[in-house]
Amino acid sequence: MSTIFTKIINKEIPATIVYEDDQVLAFNDIEPQAPIHILIIPKKQIATLNDLQIEDAALVGQLFLTAKLLAKQMGFDEAGYRTVFNCNADGGQAVYHIHLHVLAGRKLSWPPG
Ligand code: AMP
Repeated sequence: MSTIFTKIINKEIPATIVYEDDQVLAFNDIEPQAPIHILIIPKKQIATLNDLQIEDAALVGQLFLTAKLLAKQMGFDEAGYRTVFNCNADGGQAVYHIHLHVLAGRKLSWPPG
């Protein structure tokens, strides 16, 4: 089932896109939880981490490499940042199209709530 992120991929609804290639899209979270809050998603529709297949391994790697690239480009690589995948209800997943949260720009607390 498609989600609002499919509409962002298809440019049917607006988003502030910070990176795009043929497999990956990254855009600012609409409800940022830190001064920098980016979502990095595969263009391929995968609902949750539970749905990942072995053939998706390189694609998941691309999500992290995009986080690394943006951290360097946007200058928060040295200060630090957090990457998060939420899975299903207890993980706090609201949009069922996998997305890597990248949070930066403030000291993040641990453990998360
Ligand atoms: P999660 O709770 O891990 O599923 O995260 C979903 C994230 O998507 C939340 O941080 C939302 O603020 C964000 N979000 C929902 N709709 C949009 C949108 N249209 N544009 C950008 N971010 C969105």
